[in-house]
Amino acid sequence: MGEVYRKEGFGMEDEIRLGDVVRTKKPHPCGGDTWTVTRTGADIKLKCRTCGRVVMLDRVVFLKRRKATLERGPVPNIIPDEPVHGSEQSGGTVIHE
Ligand SMILES: [Zn+2]
Repeated sequence: MGEVYRKEGFGMEDEIRLGDVVRTKKPHPCGGDTWTVTRTGADIKLKCRTCGRVVMLDRVVFLKRRKATLERGPVPNIIPDEPVHGSEQSGGTVIHE
């Protein structure tokens, strides 16, 4: 958490983005060999596009098994979304507990 990564322009081969669609060398037992990255970090979480099963792989293992990246996920945002801040900005409503 709070990890800042701004690595535009280098390490593209090793870069793993949330939302990447990848193909692995070895197919899942269900027969599918394409996966969506649902979590990145030290461990990579992959969701099988065929059966929906989720597996967790060590980053190094993932990089070894990945054969191709079919789709790139969006460029990672450090702040995923504008924080929702109550209704402070919409007219100064005071909220009483
Ligand atoms: Zn599967």
